[in-house]
Amino acid sequence: MRQDLKLFSELCDFLFEEEQKNPVAKPIPTSELFQKLDLKLGNEGVVDEALTNTLKSIIERTPKTASKSFFNQLFGGRIGKAALGDLLAVMLNNSMYTYKVAGPQVGIEKEIIDNICRLSGYPENSGGTLAAGGSMTNLMALLMARDSKFPEIRTNGISQKITLYTSEASHYSASKNAVLTGIGRNQVRFIKTNNRGEMSASHLESVIKNDIKEGYKPFFVNATAGTTVLGAFDDIKSISEVCKTYSLWLHVDGAYCGSVIFSKTYKHLVNGLDFSDSFSLNGHKMLGTPLGCSIIITKHKAQLHHSFSNEADYLYQTDGDDFNLGKTSLQCGRRNDALKLWTLWKSVGTNGLEQIVDHQFELAQTARDYINSHPDYTLYSYDDSISVCFNYKDIPANVLCTALYEDSQLMVGFGKFNDTEFVRMVTINTVLEKEDIINFFTTIETYVSKHLLKNVSHSETLIDK
Ligand SMILES: *Cc1c(COP(=O)(O)O)cnc(C)c1O
Repeated sequence: MRQDLKLFSELCDFLFEEEQKNPVAKPIPTSELFQKLDLKLGNEGVVDEALTNTLKSIIERTPKTASKSFFNQLFGGRIGKAALGDLLAVMLNNSMYTYKVAGPQVGIEKEIIDNICRLSGYPENSGGTLAAGGSMTNLMALLMARDSKFPEIRTNGISQKITLYTSEASHYSASKNAVLTGIGRNQVRFIKTNNRGEMSASHLESVIKNDIKEGYKPFFVNATAGTTVLGAFDDIKSISEVCKTYSLWLHVDGAYCGSVIFSKTYKHLVNGLDFSDSFSLNGHKMLGTPLGCSIIITKHKAQLHHSFSNEADYLYQTDGDDFNLGKTSLQCGRRNDALKLWTLWKSVGTNGLEQIVDHQFELAQTARDYINSHPDYTLYSYDDSISVCFNYKDIPANVLCTALYEDSQLMVGFGKFNDTEFVRMVTINTVLEKEDIINFFTTIETYVSKHLLKNVSHSETLIDK
């Protein structure tokens, strides 16, 4: 193992160099992947220098999510202490289901959950757990809501049309989870948003009323703190009033931007969070931990237990339920995803997490200021969002993003809202500074003038939508 750690350290040095030298790895067309790289597995082992070289060639061509040219996803960057915590979790290799096998790691997870409950305004004795990602924590919320409203479903299965509500701009996991749970996609109601991408509480109420009239059984509303494209925050307070009137479970999907709870300046964006029944956020998005680290909390700790515990005497042989985390999790064997967030949190304090979050909003403001002061750009997103959506010189966003990627300039994606497609640059990458935001725009401008608008006939075909 010590030798492997040495090799690991050597490979990290190689990776750091690559991130500097080639911040956007040259993409390999899928048709050439297995010719270009030695990925095939064989009967004979490959060791020593041959293995090292193979690993290096793979690292070289793997997309660099911690480089200063990565704006593509709702995560990015690397924070040393968080990565350290995760590496330690690999070395310790506990499974989080019992106190017997995870020991103090259970306390680490509980401490994270307690603090997030407190910051969210949840009462004492609320509960929570971690799962591999936001889709999974959203699934857990849906299951708790289903079981709390229709307890008989756990034994008898679903026999009525039960409906759930989420905005048109919400993450696709809402309908995917409806499929997985046997509720069915046709029972998902997509609620209209305003022009900022925020769910309309009045449309929500009218759809619920109509469903009740038609014999459906509404049970669950999903509000979003940071929608996937525009980064919009639903008005939790007014949505919660509708939920109260019709006794519906309110979940707040904060996978993307729920971490605003750490910021005194931005926590107002989730005003009313304390009225929700459950809330999830991803440590691997705004907080900058490695993937995956998703946390869900709920006021209904007993429901968490009812929905996810199954008696298993071979497993739960010691200690109280409160320290046997397997009784409240979706998985059986479960990776220690708490340690990376705890190590980061411990080392920078809650104030440090606040700075991480605030910095992302500052960078987004830098980007919006740049766009607003350069007439060749059109801005489509709003203040208080770390997704900056724009178009440049009417160049179709997909053409621009694909060209920038294939020519190893930048990794940035595109999105759509109300039939308009635009570039979506995300300022969540933890290694970014203000100058990187300016570089992002000048890279686009230089590239476009050199390659995309070189001659008139070419530019006409590009602009011709
Ligand atoms: C990213 C995201 C999810 C899904 O989280 P994963 O960890 O990728 O599964 C869910 N909801 C929203 C709003 C997201 O941005």
